[in-house]
Amino acid sequence: MTPTRVLVLNSGSSSLKYQLLDMRDSSRLAVGLVERIGEQTSRLRHTPLASGETREQSGPIADHETALKAVAEELARDGLGLDSPELAAIGHRVVHGGMFFTEPTVIDDSVLTEIERLIPVAPLHNPANLTGIRTARALRPDLPQVAVFDTAFHTSMPESAARYAIDPRIADRYRIRRYGFHGTSHAYVSRETARLLGRAPEEVNVIVLHLGNGASASAVERGRCVDTSMGLTPLEGLVMGTRSGDLDPAVIFHFARVGDMSMDEIDTLLNKRSGLFGLCGDNDMREIRRRVDEGDEAAALAFDIYIHRIKKYIGAYYAVLGQVDAVAFTAGVGENAAAVRAAAVAGLEGLGLAVDEELNAVRSDDARLISPASARVAVAVVPTDEELEIATQTYALVGKKS
Ligand code: ADP
Repeated sequence: MTPTRVLVLNSGSSSLKYQLLDMRDSSRLAVGLVERIGEQTSRLRHTPLASGETREQSGPIADHETALKAVAEELARDGLGLDSPELAAIGHRVVHGGMFFTEPTVIDDSVLTEIERLIPVAPLHNPANLTGIRTARALRPDLPQVAVFDTAFHTSMPESAARYAIDPRIADRYRIRRYGFHGTSHAYVSRETARLLGRAPEEVNVIVLHLGNGASASAVERGRCVDTSMGLTPLEGLVMGTRSGDLDPAVIFHFARVGDMSMDEIDTLLNKRSGLFGLCGDNDMREIRRRVDEGDEAAALAFDIYIHRIKKYIGAYYAVLGQVDAVAFTAGVGENAAAVRAAAVAGLEGLGLAVDEELNAVRSDDARLISPASARVAVAVVPTDEELEIATQTYALVGKKS
């Protein structure tokens, strides 16, 4: 029997998200999440898709190893155990692959060492990702495990887009450059947008707007990323749920010198207490829209700043690409908030961009066009699927090797 299942693991510092997929038809067999690992109030939620009935358990789960074992037990109850010969590989989401990892990579000891070497540029994410990998390897040492990097899709960026204007020797010493994130999503969505247009990815230029709690834009030229809005870390670029996105770096000196704040305080302020949340106290776009509709001024200003920044990036990437076939909206806000899509494109008719009000109002889980038929540039809503992309990349690699 050829194994066709792939388990996708996304390990955060206190969470473990997973999906088991069957790559014959890319279907989900089970999905789930362990939250608050290391606390007394941990919770595991597991849904086998065959029955669709979610099972939940709460109580302390001390660490990732215990969490993965609990997940394995849940899967086994559905006849989907990790010891099944049908399991082909485990695909791990790894946030930072630096310049080194340009593609998904089968994990061995040297790969682990390299991911570890990248911890200084991804102190929050890579340690958690590594813990997930080590735990899974201990459980199934014989099984191919693949690392799929958030940064990989962006390694095609030219130096002109990837470098900051600082002395390259200093930049290289500290590995400072624009890496970009959400790459798995940008890769998937740009390809799906081409498919929606009935064309090959190599034939089209797409601006992808990944608007979730974290948010980033990318310019994709004929299937290759040529620019993206996140940089050394996910802090740069668009206004996000709790991150400021672009600001004058001198703001940081000012906080330190005039505000007498520590680096950690500034880091927390800009990453966790800024963006939409910092502007109006809410980071959920549904709540912000509700407040805007009620005439709340702080929410309206937050919304306007958020939209202004998106527009700037659409314009910038239009110029970077020279010619654009489609603008694609994705992730929680991009897929669901019609008001954001309409506002982001409003006034851009000169660039060939427009949204059809009726099409934009349609709610659907399918990729769809929302621009009028006559528009020069297609505007699309393309639901992202990072887990499917990780599974697809993992399976392609393992299939090639075996
Ligand atoms: P992440 O993966 O970055 O945590 P998601 O892509 O899941 O984020 O997006 C989450 C965000 O999507 C929420 O914070 C909320 O702002 C927004 N969102 C989700 N559903 C809706 C909706 N129906 N209308 C508007 N915004 C929504």
